[in-house]
Amino acid sequence: MTQFTDLLRRTDRLLLTGHENPDGDCLGAQVALWHLLRALGRSPRIVNPDPIGKAHDFLLRHTPFEHARGESPLPEFDGVVLLDCAQLSRVGQLGERLRQSGKPIAVIDHHVGSERGDGVVHMVDATAAATGALVWRLFREFGVPLNQAAAEGVFLSLVSDTGWFRYSNADAEVFAITSELVAAGVDASLVFDSLYRRNHPDSVRLLADAMQRSRLLHGGRLAMVALDRAWMDRASAADFDTDIVLDPLRSIEGVEVVALLKERFDGAVKASLRARRDVDVQAIVAAFGGGGHKKAAGATMRMSLGAAESAIEQAVAAALAKAGLGR
Ligand code: 5GP
Ligand code: MN
Repeated sequence: MTQFTDLLRRTDRLLLTGHENPDGDCLGAQVALWHLLRALGRSPRIVNPDPIGKAHDFLLRHTPFEHARGESPLPEFDGVVLLDCAQLSRVGQLGERLRQSGKPIAVIDHHVGSERGDGVVHMVDATAAATGALVWRLFREFGVPLNQAAAEGVFLSLVSDTGWFRYSNADAEVFAITSELVAAGVDASLVFDSLYRRNHPDSVRLLADAMQRSRLLHGGRLAMVALDRAWMDRASAADFDTDIVLDPLRSIEGVEVVALLKERFDGAVKASLRARRDVDVQAIVAAFGGGGHKKAAGATMRMSLGAAESAIEQAVAAALAKAGLGR
């Protein structure tokens, strides 16, 4: 192909990384790319800004993950591959260190606008359901068959970003790839159980509590839940994946947008927005310096939790009106 595949081919020690709190797509795509590069005789390392969470630790059966916080030493590397995001500012402190290294950066991503990120070369397709689908295309490009571990990585990417094939991004490519992955030995129920059937006993109470705190606004079109610092501390003690609070809220008839606001340890607020139909949540969070996709987007807001709640509430009201869903 391109300058992008050239860089992968030429560079021996690539450091694979991604956004803070890496999700299933980011980690799965890293797994697959790591195995591709190994098959090509290269020496890649996966180094993330945060450790891999408990839900994803099944990946350690076949793939080594490292993380670098603060000044902890980095392995020697000749180039960087940034997966599932395009800006080093999303890679925490590690991102700044990678920038200062001056090493070339390649981006593999499926977010809107990622060709304008920090990559010197990039493979970006905002129509792709997951970053893992792009890595799957790379296997094709290089003529390398997927081993079982790489197949599990791509599978994790696809199920993470399509909500197990329920969202509108679950297109023909997703189902075609998935059939190949299962044929290559992926155990879908093992992946499901590893992700969702190992929760802490407190998790059901946390979920119930988050639901109690949720509010329906704008005539039932916006469902919002704001979780403060103390709540987030309880959640992190129980390894609670806050993403699961989005789904019950999305199930309410008439809800067009779900907003989850989480107060972070540093006082900033992490916003996660999801849309059901015509509201473009990517456009909403772009106004706060965030990004993502039309139906799933997020932002880090440097303001108090209360201020973030009103800002999102107002922005969603405007977006509902624009989509002809206001009143
Ligand atoms: P989530 O709400 O699950 O964190 O993210 C939803 C989507 O928005 C993902 O595709 C994610 O990469 C993107 N996203 C989340 N937070 C940010 C952010 O702070 N900046 C940008 N550019 N994208 C984000
Ligand atoms: Mn993704």
